[in-house]
Amino acid sequence: MNYMVGFISLNMYALIVCLLLITIFFSKKRQRQVEDQSYAHFLVFNALATFSGIILGILVTPALNTNQLVLQIANKVYLTCLLCWSCILNYYTMYISFLKKKKDNRKFLSLYKNSILIAILILLILPVEVVSTDSGAQAEGLCLLFFYTFLGVGFVADFISILTDFKNIRSKKYLPIYLLLVLGLFSVSIQLVFPSLNYLINPCTVLITLVMYFTIENPDIKIIEQLNAAKDQAEKANRAKSDFLSNMSHEIRTPLNAVVGFSEAILEENDIEQIKSDAKDIIMASNNLLEIVNGILDISKIEAEKMEIVETEYDLVENLNGLAKLMIPRIGDKPIELRVKYAPDIPHILYGDGGKVKQIVMNILTNAVKYTERGFITLEVGCVNSGTECKLVISVEDTGRGIQPEKIDSIFNKFERLEEDRNTTLEGTGLGLAITKRLVEMMGGKIVVQSKYGAGSKFTVYLKQEIRMVSQEVKRTVTYDTMVDISNRKVLVVDDNKINLKVATRMLTPYHLNIEECESGLECIEKIKEGKVYDLILMDDMMPKMTGTEAFHELEKIPDFHTPVVVLTANAIEGMKENYLKEGFKDYLAKPIDKLELERVLYTYLTYEEKKEEIFEPLPEELYDINKPLSE
Ligand code: ADP
Repeated sequence: MNYMVGFISLNMYALIVCLLLITIFFSKKRQRQVEDQSYAHFLVFNALATFSGIILGILVTPALNTNQLVLQIANKVYLTCLLCWSCILNYYTMYISFLKKKKDNRKFLSLYKNSILIAILILLILPVEVVSTDSGAQAEGLCLLFFYTFLGVGFVADFISILTDFKNIRSKKYLPIYLLLVLGLFSVSIQLVFPSLNYLINPCTVLITLVMYFTIENPDIKIIEQLNAAKDQAEKANRAKSDFLSNMSHEIRTPLNAVVGFSEAILEENDIEQIKSDAKDIIMASNNLLEIVNGILDISKIEAEKMEIVETEYDLVENLNGLAKLMIPRIGDKPIELRVKYAPDIPHILYGDGGKVKQIVMNILTNAVKYTERGFITLEVGCVNSGTECKLVISVEDTGRGIQPEKIDSIFNKFERLEEDRNTTLEGTGLGLAITKRLVEMMGGKIVVQSKYGAGSKFTVYLKQEIRMVSQEVKRTVTYDTMVDISNRKVLVVDDNKINLKVATRMLTPYHLNIEECESGLECIEKIKEGKVYDLILMDDMMPKMTGTEAFHELEKIPDFHTPVVVLTANAIEGMKENYLKEGFKDYLAKPIDKLELERVLYTYLTYEEKKEEIFEPLPEELYDINKPLSE
């Protein structure tokens, strides 16, 4: 009897601790995470179990002579509360050990909830009997057997869950579970020796709940942990920014140094051949600088998640033909054959970000040209069409120097250039492939590299685009013959800035064109109205009084005006090109004008007829299978 009073008092203390804990926990600002919610339920069931345990303890005192049915009901309420407490602990352990890592655990949760309900039902149905003994009272029957088996299985499940997260086995988040093992064994052993002394269970559960509060579920600790995580994140971002700046400073200074150095050398030099060679180096360094600036703009836009996918209708084959054309001068006099192959069923018009597809292929193709000395470069485009979806398989294969297997993964990192390229004259930033990979991923595609060191590389891009128009008549023309004669074609350059006019005219000079200049849109309109005819107009956009776009719209109103107008602009922000094309301009040239781009524009609009025409054989079947790995 004295034991009874002692144990009931112990349970009273446990209940007070439990209620205090509930008051503190619920009065604090909490998060809405699964762990917090489970802990809240956990606290409530702990209090209910302790409270019902005390009531049961009081009811079984022989002096009260309580009816057996009432005792059985009280016992079942008590066991149900304990069972729920144990189930919540099981779920909590499974959640922090492995369920949290899963994206969707709703199915598991509903299955778990249903099994708890079934367990409660079984518990309520199975018989139990409360027997008074000299040292108190004890419960017997199938119901109790089921209860202990269920708890035992729960314990085992907890430990198996922790084992699935073996590398964190020492984490303090599992401390309450380890304590549960020790205290559980302790109270079960006592119970085996003294079957009536089952009042130790509640103080143990309260102790576990208390330890849990001070180890993991304390809202204060959680907020501090969150603040620390945010601080770490901020420090990391800051470090990345500093690394980026120091990297940038190095990357930009290198070509600038070349520009300044060679320009100074030219001032001192009299030998015309040497001057020409220095000027070539200046151009190379400037192009490199431009590439860096564009690359930085692209990568910072991607990283700030500001790079947008601009979807329009586009002709893939036409775009890629333009790219192939651009490669010819880059190949120069290297003995390389450029092969371009299209599958016959590539839809004529696709819907997607054609500009980005072009940029992706451009980067890979430029690398192939850069890192190949002889042999061939093959741009091959295949597709798998189903309904309105077109899965593009674009590959660029070269017979260049290849990449060592251990370095393949690192080539997609920012500023990563292979050691052998750092000290050579091969220009590059190490940003091209990083941007390419991010662009491909942004568009939901993937890029695969195969390479044999010393033999060549193959970059394959898989992308999904929407089909807008399938046309049988579309001509798969591949024209990259810059030998077409464009001399004496009439070109008008419109720019308010004299220096820009001078640069444009100087750049056009080698093509023996008939060049005219004018300094405003109005002047240009007057010339056309006077009846002058040009084969091409290069129009600056940002001009005072009347912008190039306004002038262009005025020109469009003139009857019989059909001259292609290409906009020239320093406004080279992403998306501008699409805007200009929407305005009706034929094409777009960004300043500083890239010689190759200029050449592309000239040969596109000043050649009256495409020269070559090729229709290629279908690609091998395996290329159409987007999931099948390509053979080496
Ligand atoms: P870079 O501006 O240096 O070309 P990229 O990001 O485009 O930068 O490429 C990263 C590195 O990957 C290059 O410096 C080069 O070492 C290697 N690489 C890329 N493409 C090829 C290729 N086709 N053949 C051999 N090496 C390549």
